[in-house]
Amino acid sequence: MAQKANPATRHVISINDLSDKDIESIFEIARAFLKELPDPHFPYRIGRSSKIASNFILASLFFEPSTRTRLSFESAMLRLGGEVITSADPATSSAAKGESLADSVRVISNYADIMVIRHPRDGAARLAADYSPIPVINGGDGSHEHPTQTLCDLFTLTKKNKQLKNLKVAISGDLRGSRTIHSFVYALARFGATIMPMPAKGMELPAHVGERLREEFGCQMVSAQKGGGDPSIDALYVTPKEPHQQSLFAGAEINLDSDVVEQKVDAVYVTRFQKERWQEKDQPYPKIDRKFLNEPKYSEASVLHPLPRVGELDVSVDTDRRAVYFEQAAYGVPVRMALISLLLGIKGKSLHKFQGGFERKKYPVYDQPRSVGIHCVNTNCIVHDPMEAQYVRNKFYIIGSDDGSRYKLRCVYCESDARRFVVASKKNKWFTKNATPLLRSDDQHFKELVVFANETDALANGFHSRRGSGESPGAAQEGGKRRAKSHGGS
Ligand SMILES: [Zn+2]
Repeated sequence: MAQKANPATRHVISINDLSDKDIESIFEIARAFLKELPDPHFPYRIGRSSKIASNFILASLFFEPSTRTRLSFESAMLRLGGEVITSADPATSSAAKGESLADSVRVISNYADIMVIRHPRDGAARLAADYSPIPVINGGDGSHEHPTQTLCDLFTLTKKNKQLKNLKVAISGDLRGSRTIHSFVYALARFGATIMPMPAKGMELPAHVGERLREEFGCQMVSAQKGGGDPSIDALYVTPKEPHQQSLFAGAEINLDSDVVEQKVDAVYVTRFQKERWQEKDQPYPKIDRKFLNEPKYSEASVLHPLPRVGELDVSVDTDRRAVYFEQAAYGVPVRMALISLLLGIKGKSLHKFQGGFERKKYPVYDQPRSVGIHCVNTNCIVHDPMEAQYVRNKFYIIGSDDGSRYKLRCVYCESDARRFVVASKKNKWFTKNATPLLRSDDQHFKELVVFANETDALANGFHSRRGSGESPGAAQEGGKRRAKSHGGS
């Protein structure tokens, strides 16, 4: 009998897989570990080990080199008294021998009780979860997400006596390729933060992340001029402080509350200069140093960095009272200990018991075999990995705008959005660009539909343009061009 994933198994692939209550529970348990197993000299370090996970094994599957995330997870499991098995060298791993991720996961899940995975492809962790009967934690997938880093970041802020509600946070550097930043801004927005992007030129927050902030988290984008005239800031994302305030932000033009502009910055989050991703060699990369922090608005700002750093954060900041990045790295252990023990249901608590808080919207899912119709627009998505071709499907959430006039498809694996496509009816053999009436439907109805990237693909598959719709075959093929465009990179 084929081994099946258990639908009740809880995985952590995105920060949005965790409710606010889940996050609070993780932090409560992390604080308890710091108290029970302290390092006598450094209050932010775990200094002893427990035995509570002595019957459990963690498998760490790293398809991309990473020292700290892997060691931090392994240290967390060992501190819990558990065992660790690891596959850390992609050159000798089963992937190098041509085994698919879907098969590796099903095999290795027999050897362990919980699994952490890092992979260069966006969406790889979600695919692993689809095939895993044991909990999967995403240790970073392509440029998609890195949820446990975000948990450590948020925990560090709470340890610095910052309430997670309504923070003002500056994020600096490579905001495009940093998966850490993508998880972090979603979490900040959920807690009502004002986000101040300070990107390196050409490394702005990706459009799809900005869109999600606006459409799903109610953020309002305010232009740089209104953001206080600081030329290093391209915009502010302001999240309504309370849900009822959301209506105030509905209009196109908002009067930015002077409180927001004048509010001191609570944290500066610095990201690494990734040389390999850097196209424009002559552009300066933003550097955070003492001079930068001398500005009055940063007087109380904690300085965070996921590390390693390569020059974008000056070492002179290390002795500044606002520098918290080494503590942030240390908190990786108690936070991951807490997450592992909650996912395993040890310590008398389980993540299953904490529902509520942030609820992911339940979108209908379009689900067809990989050979049929539109593929994910993101060329770095796991669905485009030839080794996984037999194990992935063309699966998309169907997401409508609030007024129901527009629809987009979001890849279930990597969460990239496709906005241009045509929808065909299998029964009637026609297709239409105006898909609204077809998409407003239920899961059963979607089985009758096939979505194509463009008219050419629909025609090539034997469908014809819907009569009377005024759509002429051969026109409007933007969809095809868009498909070739990458959203990702690792
Ligand atoms: Zn995808």
